[in-house]
Amino acid sequence: PVGSCKVVLAASIAKKLLEEVHDGLKKVDHKPRLHGFLANSDPAAKMYANWTAKTCQENGFDFTLREVAREDLEDVLREANQDPNVDGILVYYPVFDTTRDRTLQWTVSLYKDVEGLSPQLISNMYQNIRFLDPPANQLKSILPCTPLAVIKILEHLQIYNTFLDYGKRLFGRRITVINRSEVVGRPLAALLANDGAEVFSVDVTGVQRFTRGTGLKKQKHEVEDLEGWQLKDCLLNSDVVISGVPGDSYKVPTELIREGAVCINFSSEKNFSPDVKEKASIYVPAIGKVTIVILLRNLLRIVQNLRENQQR
Ligand code: NAD
Repeated sequence: PVGSCKVVLAASIAKKLLEEVHDGLKKVDHKPRLHGFLANSDPAAKMYANWTAKTCQENGFDFTLREVAREDLEDVLREANQDPNVDGILVYYPVFDTTRDRTLQWTVSLYKDVEGLSPQLISNMYQNIRFLDPPANQLKSILPCTPLAVIKILEHLQIYNTFLDYGKRLFGRRITVINRSEVVGRPLAALLANDGAEVFSVDVTGVQRFTRGTGLKKQKHEVEDLEGWQLKDCLLNSDVVISGVPGDSYKVPTELIREGAVCINFSSEKNFSPDVKEKASIYVPAIGKVTIVILLRNLLRIVQNLRENQQR
């Protein structure tokens, strides 16, 4: 028989987060306006755009899809940065699928970037700077959607210990993150370590440890290579396992996962085998529905920051 594993679906977590977003929406003076920029012919991007549109409309946000030629995109983004009728900007990547996409990310104003990919926002995140306006600290920095979705899931599952002070609530937790991409895995490992966790970050090249040092004495996380470490060493030591390996052939070996671990999959494929339920205490099979709510939450935050700025 299957053990006492709780399978937690993203939809149930998303619902709770949406209630908070709806509460926040009541307090802003206009419907937040998101413009999505589609400059590729990838049907998956179009599908995602339609899904964003639907989610926005269902939840009191205004969404406009703008299909533009990719050579025009930089100029169009600069105009949108200046346009008071655009609160948030979302670009569907890849556009060029080369380092040129980086230039597009830099072009989007950090005050309109719902995805949290602007250099200043990324730099704040890695440095554990949580506000855009120190020392006043009224304007919250925007975090990238998928890593923040994982954090909100961990909060929901009470892996974050609210008895502890804010910013230290993962102290004592050991977490493996399998994926170290620049868009998800590395920022996620950094955010978790900044909140106090000891993080084992695994990718095809090896294992790194992200921590704030003994007693969380450091202001931000540090990273070290764990020479000779393998996935099994990480799993043996981890209360939480988060996996995001692309492709359908990869499976986290269930026999190496600790009894009672919390397992979360953010890959679009299933990185855990069905028998994970015999080992894990909690299993979250997918997170996409939470990610999209985070996008709305980021957009709301941008509008709240705008209001805060105007009141000064
Ligand atoms: P990527 O290809 O940029 O990165 C993949 C990462 O996995 C790399 O760090 C790589 O080294 C690591 N990896 C690959 N094979 C591995 C192995 N055998 N062992 C250990 N590490 C391995 O991909 P990405 O953009 O980070 O996306 C990863 C997955 O997450 C995709 O399936 C994507 O669809 C999904 N994703 C989901 C969301 C969401 O909200 N649910 C958002 C973004 C991406």
